[in-house]
Amino acid sequence: MTVNSKYPNLLKPLDLGFTTIRNRVLMGSMHTGLEEEKNGFDKLAAFYEERAKGGVGIIVTGGISPNLRGRLAPHGSQMSHFWHVNKHKKITEAVHKYDSKICLQLLHAGRYGYHPFSVAPSKIKAPISPFSPSAMSDRSIRGTINDYAKSSKLAKKAGYDGVEIMGSEGYLINQFICSRTNKREDQWGGSFENRMRFPVEIVKAVREAAGEDFIIIYRLSMLDLVEDGSTYEEVVALGKEIEKAGATLINTGIGWHEARVPTIATSVPRGAFTWVTGKLKKELTIPLITTNRINDPEFAEEVLARGDGDMVSMARPFLADPYFVTKTEEGKEESINTCIACNQACLDHVFQGKRASCLVNPQACYETELKFYPTQAKKKIAVVGAGPAGMAFSSYAAEKGHEVHLFDKNQEIGGQFNYAKQIPGKEEFYHTIRYFADRLNKAGVHIHLGEVKTVDDLASGYDEVILATGIQPRDITIPGHDHEKVYGYLDVLRDHKPVGERVAVIGAGGIGFDVSEYLTESESLTLQPEKWMAEWGIDPSYENPGAIKRPEHQPASRQVYLLQRKQTKVGAGLGKTTGWIHRSTLKNKRVEMLAGCTYKEVNDQGLIIEIDGQEKLLEVDHVIVCAGQEPLRDMYQELADKGVSVHIIGGADVASELDAKRAIRQGAELASEI
Ligand code: FAD
Ligand code: NAP
Ligand code: SF4
Repeated sequence: MTVNSKYPNLLKPLDLGFTTIRNRVLMGSMHTGLEEEKNGFDKLAAFYEERAKGGVGIIVTGGISPNLRGRLAPHGSQMSHFWHVNKHKKITEAVHKYDSKICLQLLHAGRYGYHPFSVAPSKIKAPISPFSPSAMSDRSIRGTINDYAKSSKLAKKAGYDGVEIMGSEGYLINQFICSRTNKREDQWGGSFENRMRFPVEIVKAVREAAGEDFIIIYRLSMLDLVEDGSTYEEVVALGKEIEKAGATLINTGIGWHEARVPTIATSVPRGAFTWVTGKLKKELTIPLITTNRINDPEFAEEVLARGDGDMVSMARPFLADPYFVTKTEEGKEESINTCIACNQACLDHVFQGKRASCLVNPQACYETELKFYPTQAKKKIAVVGAGPAGMAFSSYAAEKGHEVHLFDKNQEIGGQFNYAKQIPGKEEFYHTIRYFADRLNKAGVHIHLGEVKTVDDLASGYDEVILATGIQPRDITIPGHDHEKVYGYLDVLRDHKPVGERVAVIGAGGIGFDVSEYLTESESLTLQPEKWMAEWGIDPSYENPGAIKRPEHQPASRQVYLLQRKQTKVGAGLGKTTGWIHRSTLKNKRVEMLAGCTYKEVNDQGLIIEIDGQEKLLEVDHVIVCAGQEPLRDMYQELADKGVSVHIIGGADVASELDAKRAIRQGAELASEI
């Protein structure tokens, strides 16, 4: 193994006494959906094997329940019987071909169980679940502790190096710890000593069942970020008891799922919460793992160097790039496919019951299905458009051995990602362009910028032509549509035309929201962690339980109306796990979000709309049109008519509901076939 001296902390082995971890990188738990799919364990084994080959120190699997009632969903996975063991062996054997460890995460959902048989310390429904849990009896609590012990023993039999006991994010163990959800009056409730009895007994029972040569990671909720969450003193007391009970490592948990504070979205500053692990580290002796929004090796090194943890946990960055660690070891950091924390293909999929993947890496969780083999018949290929679709196609096709010429009329690659990266809180999108620039270059793609190709140019000399020309923004046609105060979103994001103090945004899709954020936020809080924490009511002094306080909102830099014609809630179509963040951000900026609008006219006074049967003048200086997009595919038919083998991908193919996830996957899939 090459050791890159730039990373003395990150790449240093960790000696646990009975075993050694090859570096300080833990791949955090992620449910992929393969756990419940038919033949999913073969695919899951390939998924984990790729990450082990990529050099990660310890992998933690997606959450597996220790019993039936603890399942997240009715068909959720469980490790309770000897017949569950065999399929897990496929995973552990695949991972152990390399020098990586793998731990099974034991997760009892408690009141977050999405089924009518869920249980909890007290009968209190979670605000994010339609089901009311039953309160556990003393017998059921003791039985559940035994189930954790039994599952750990089975995990060991299946070849796992250890388990992670999920004690955070508001799941069952967390529900016992906090008075918010634990109203019991017996020995499992009341005083903190009683409330923490459940996790402490679990760790003791697991240690006894699995023996000394077994890793026990306890995921401790260090910041609950909800009312009536733990105080800092309670977190310290619990950490000490967990350590005494026999845990090997303590991992960091941030925020319950029901917390109204973003914890992993792209607008969360990098490493926004590592300070709490650093604070707790001073109180404990076993190694601590820090986490959340760490996606870059230099940043991870900095976090460890400043003492915020002994290891770092990264989860989504390993969907984006299985070779994160080896690339770091070999000094090829610029080749890392950076996770942009969009959640679009990972968490959003899981919450919709779909298989997880990754927007920037469509091979994630499709390792056995989306394959790229060296070509036997080298072709000369023209790709028109260097947006996400064109960049993805070109890099995969050139890596297969084709001669690829990539043309863009602009002077830079990246397509619309060049606009996305300017939105406050979307700075990470720059890294996708940086990654593809490196990859296209290494794959030997011939890049021709500032070149517009005609049909005649493309009709001869190429074996295949790929149109990845993207979209054009849709115009509006109401009276006054050509008034000087009407802008398209490109006038704002590309041409940076001056925008007045009062603005109406027509169209409340992803771009309407982004433009509204761009216009109301004078500075990106994502780059200023202290102000970001104040905005979302996080209390770094930890004076209140749950570390929350009254939010201090930054004033809006403009007055914005965000409008749509539909009667549905504005923003209803945004990402499943991130839409609420965008809606809250604009609400805090006092943006007026109006549904059910009919646009009547733009004139010198502003924009006239009809809403609830009444005409209303919005006195605005500018009207910015974000009314969706049309495909830009004018050359397609002519090329096809000339008998050219032409393919169309990304927005040029279908503009409606287009996102970069589809554009990149479509580019990759076409490249795998050509
Ligand atoms: P484009 O990105 O449009 O690329 C097309 C390229 O073709 C351009 O570079 C263009 O210059 C070039 N081109 C066009 N015609 C020619 C020609 N004749 N000759 C040469 N070159 C040509 N998506 C998400 O998934 N998540 C987000 O969070 C997100 N945020 C966004 C925020 C903003 C502000 C914007 C504007 C878009 C956002 N998108 C987001 C959408 C995403 O960027 C697009 O879905 C994606 O870029 C489409 O990729 P594409 O390659 O099909 O087209
Ligand atoms: P979009 O999501 O389709 O939204 C277009 C908006 O314009 C809708 O609100 C629509 O609402 C309105 N509209 C449509 N036709 C109109 C017309 N003729 N006149 C007036 N209004 C009209 O498209 P987008 O906002 O341009 O985004 C493009 C794609 O980029 C999206 O599909 C999205 O996936 C992606 N994106 C994603 C994110 C993200 O955070 N995930 C962010 C930005 C962009 P009404 O019909 O109700 O008026
Ligand atoms: Fe990261 Fe987005 Fe990929 Fe999820 S889909 S792993 S958040 S880049």
